[in-house]
Amino acid sequence: MAEAGRRRGPTGKPRYSIFALARNALSYHENWQAAWRSPEPKPSYDAIVVGGGGHGLATAYYLASVHGIRNVAVLEKGWIGGGNTGRNTTIIRSNYLWDESAAIYEHALKLWEGLTQELNFNLMFSQRGVITLAHSEHELKEMRRRVEAIRLNGIDTEVLDTAGVKKLVPIINTDQSIRYPVMGGFVQRRGGTARHDAVAWGYARAADDLGVDIIQGCEVTGFLKDGQGHIEGVETTRGTIRSKRIGCVAAGHSAVLAAMAGFKLPIQARPLQALVSEPIKPVIDTVVMSNAVHMYVSQSDKGELVLGAGTDSYNSYAQRGSLNIIEHQLAAACELYPIVSRLRVLRTWGGIVDTCPDASPIISTTPVDGLFFNCGWGTGGFKATPGSGHVFADLMAKGRPNAIAAPFSLERFSGGYLIDEHGAAGVAH
Ligand SMILES: Cc1cc2nc3c(=O)[nH]c(=O)nc-3n(C[C@H](O)[C@H](O)[C@H](O)COP(=O)(O)OP(=O)(O)OC[C@H]3O[C@@H](n4cnc5c(N)ncnc54)[C@H](O)[C@@H]3O)c2cc1C
Repeated sequence: MAEAGRRRGPTGKPRYSIFALARNALSYHENWQAAWRSPEPKPSYDAIVVGGGGHGLATAYYLASVHGIRNVAVLEKGWIGGGNTGRNTTIIRSNYLWDESAAIYEHALKLWEGLTQELNFNLMFSQRGVITLAHSEHELKEMRRRVEAIRLNGIDTEVLDTAGVKKLVPIINTDQSIRYPVMGGFVQRRGGTARHDAVAWGYARAADDLGVDIIQGCEVTGFLKDGQGHIEGVETTRGTIRSKRIGCVAAGHSAVLAAMAGFKLPIQARPLQALVSEPIKPVIDTVVMSNAVHMYVSQSDKGELVLGAGTDSYNSYAQRGSLNIIEHQLAAACELYPIVSRLRVLRTWGGIVDTCPDASPIISTTPVDGLFFNCGWGTGGFKATPGSGHVFADLMAKGRPNAIAAPFSLERFSGGYLIDEHGAAGVAH
């Protein structure tokens, strides 16, 4: 076929390029090779990753690409990217307060900066800047202190006054008589967005190319352990699959999986919603968040305004939330950006986020030898996808956490070394 002789990966997949696009146009785009295989599960693997979201697929990719562990299966109960990865509002930034958080989120941001090229997949990574607004003197004062701390970690962030915000966001209402007036804010210019499902697809394609089996429609229903309590494998809806090295990256269902393995996680699973407006011409070319009015906005490449808010205040495993959150979110949007008041809502959706008491993730060994967990990213894990997968693969390959992952162990909840990021991760994704 026309693809013969083209540059290929280990499993024979041709690379995407402008030339491939032109070549395939000649056959009306009917001969593109499938981006990943759909293999039957093998009886055993060197490593199993449970959960085919961005974090799980990234883990599998780095196990294969960095650690040479290629006999790997990703087991996904639905379809890849069908969890929070394909439902989030794609905000990426690294301006967190504590050193431990700065290290992992900045590690991720640096990986994002070269990821499209590395995966040979257009992730539509756009460093359009992320602004967080201040609506009171107190909030602005706290932000100044936060910005100094963030800069000490070498992360780009700067304080803005009201005029500075207005310059970057001309549609924002800076009238000082509104309920929550804009008093300034801070911006990370290297922050931005990426196309969420492309991240899942890009990692899946690259992992598949290295020999990883991506098995969709395969729910893990139990764990097998040997007499010494070492992990032996998983029971799934497609039969028993054995491995002595298993990583769970199942976001909203982490506590369910931990219970199957016989231990508890300090995780609450809550619905988090988002919505988009009908598409309009470009009106905002950055991301703006407000913790005080619980609303944030960006504009997708299709033209839809992407609006997010905070979590529902109850636990649930339903991928939908309550109307009162949407009402509140739209009221805040109309107050801050009056021009949106006549726009129609195109669609709303929800995901299940897994939050820890300190609003920081868990990347950890567990009481079961050979079983690892990566979860608790709550409302803000999309931005961490490459960094999370990178350090979790390292943990699964070596059995002990590296310097970036170590502070996020389960032991911090008994040892008292909490990494309290409520200020950076409350509504702020
Ligand atoms: C509305 C919304 C907005 C958000 N906005 C942002 C944002 O702007 N920026 C940001 O950084 N983060 C954001 N987040 C958070 C972010 O989406 C998540 O932290 C991140 O995507 C988690 O990725 P993951 O791969 O761990 O989880 P997921 O993508 O949820 O993947 C977990 C997978 O595990 C699978 N699974 C579960 N149980 C099993 C089982 N028993 N067997 C097999 N498979 C199983 C699920 O089907 C799922 O596909 C948002 C989340 C939501 C819901």
